[in-house]
Amino acid sequence: MEPSAEKMREWVNRAMEQIVPYLQSLPDQPAAVWQGGADVARSLRESMPEVGSELEPLLKHLFQQVIPHSLNTAGPGYLAYIPGGGLFHTALADLIADAVNRYVGVWIASPGMVQLESNVVQWFCEVVGYGNDPTAGPGATSRPDTEAATSPNPGGILTSGGSIANLTALVTARRTQLGDDFSRGTLYVSDQIHHSITKAAIIAGLPTANVRVIPAGADFKMDVARLQQQIQDDRKDGWQPFLMIGSAGTVNTGAVDPLNELADLAAAESMWLHIDGAYGAFFTMTKRGRSALDGMDRADSITLDPHKSLFLPYGTGCLLVKDGAKLRQAHSVSGDYMPAYQDEVDLVDFCNSSAELSRSNRGLRCWLPIKMLGMQAFRNALDEKLDLARDAADRLRHLPDVKIVAEPELSLLAFRIERSDLNLHQLNQLNQSWIDAVNQRGHVYLTGTWLDGKFTLRICVLCFRTHQDRMDLALQDLAASAAELLATV
Ligand SMILES: *Cc1c(COP(=O)(O)O)cnc(C)c1O
Repeated sequence: MEPSAEKMREWVNRAMEQIVPYLQSLPDQPAAVWQGGADVARSLRESMPEVGSELEPLLKHLFQQVIPHSLNTAGPGYLAYIPGGGLFHTALADLIADAVNRYVGVWIASPGMVQLESNVVQWFCEVVGYGNDPTAGPGATSRPDTEAATSPNPGGILTSGGSIANLTALVTARRTQLGDDFSRGTLYVSDQIHHSITKAAIIAGLPTANVRVIPAGADFKMDVARLQQQIQDDRKDGWQPFLMIGSAGTVNTGAVDPLNELADLAAAESMWLHIDGAYGAFFTMTKRGRSALDGMDRADSITLDPHKSLFLPYGTGCLLVKDGAKLRQAHSVSGDYMPAYQDEVDLVDFCNSSAELSRSNRGLRCWLPIKMLGMQAFRNALDEKLDLARDAADRLRHLPDVKIVAEPELSLLAFRIERSDLNLHQLNQLNQSWIDAVNQRGHVYLTGTWLDGKFTLRICVLCFRTHQDRMDLALQDLAASAAELLATV
């Protein structure tokens, strides 16, 4: 169990011999290999090994049999769901973090490592405009906002992803607003909300009926007037509206809810406002993103996903809470065997801010890439994604019979073929054939969604490896496949 110095070096080198060519060949790999997945999975069933094996055959097995048959979520052609890419810098950070295996659940166990995570949380607070750091440089996004300026110390936690960040937010809001008796508590979302919110409500013990789903407007955004009406009706019926959740970029169409209107309403109703920015929140680092997300900093809490719009590998989400003390109060439980928690505001015991006690070192996996690249690199990359999405929309618009269903507010757009001589069913089939035909070509992988019963294609540009050349291929394939299909109907 304790390899020699020589062995450790050899192992890492051997792994790198596989990893480097793999990453270098990403642009030439198919964007997705999905047929026959069940056969591949079943062929990999194996009995538990009683004796160990050498590394080399295991590496070959991984890189030849296990990895290739996938949606290539690391590659430039992955324009499906919400991409990310997976920065190598984080793989390096994980190697270090796992090798030194510091405990980052409580501050006392590794004050230095925990501080690095605190720094990351603080940087993300600056990114979204929580608190006004006077030392922040010209690139900082904090702004003179009276609510932010008077807010108590913001806090937050790095989670495994947006789902757990949303769950942690929901529990914080529930505990803050309702205490222990929450059976009449209601929360409000639009029908475009990410399903992790409903899941979070279930896990947090709220009956699903207490999740009020407001039909979105024609622009796929929260209909605030309807929301207000529902809240009033519920209050009359003896419910306790405690939480409204807006989206800073939905998965379906990239829609950004009217964040300022939501903040006004939340203030008027004394409700908690949470913003799910798992896809979109980091765009606030760019000028255009900041304007699209105006008002986000007025929310009580915000979910961000570094494994999406900060391009990190999967396993890194984040929840920021404007009044960090509320996050801690909502999760503060201890045991006789535990060290005393920090009560200095600037020293944090992260086990006190979420469901986790032992946790992986997510601080380092954010810290190392940010320190090595600087925030500027991320801002520029996000700006490029905004350009690419807008350019794609402009080119799609000019294809015959193609309609942009949702313009890119950030880097996600939705579109479909529409023809007045075809009925809904025929159009849905045609659009499904379109996406299949594009995906078959292998340059890009797209996913669709259903909007008001209409099958709609989506492009989400978010991988740091996706550049103009790949988008040109995407547009070529979309144009050629559409022309072929339209010729047959
Ligand atoms: C991806 C996503 C989530 C869920 O986040 P995970 O990191 O996958 O758990 C929640 N909300 C939105 C808007 C998302 O895009």
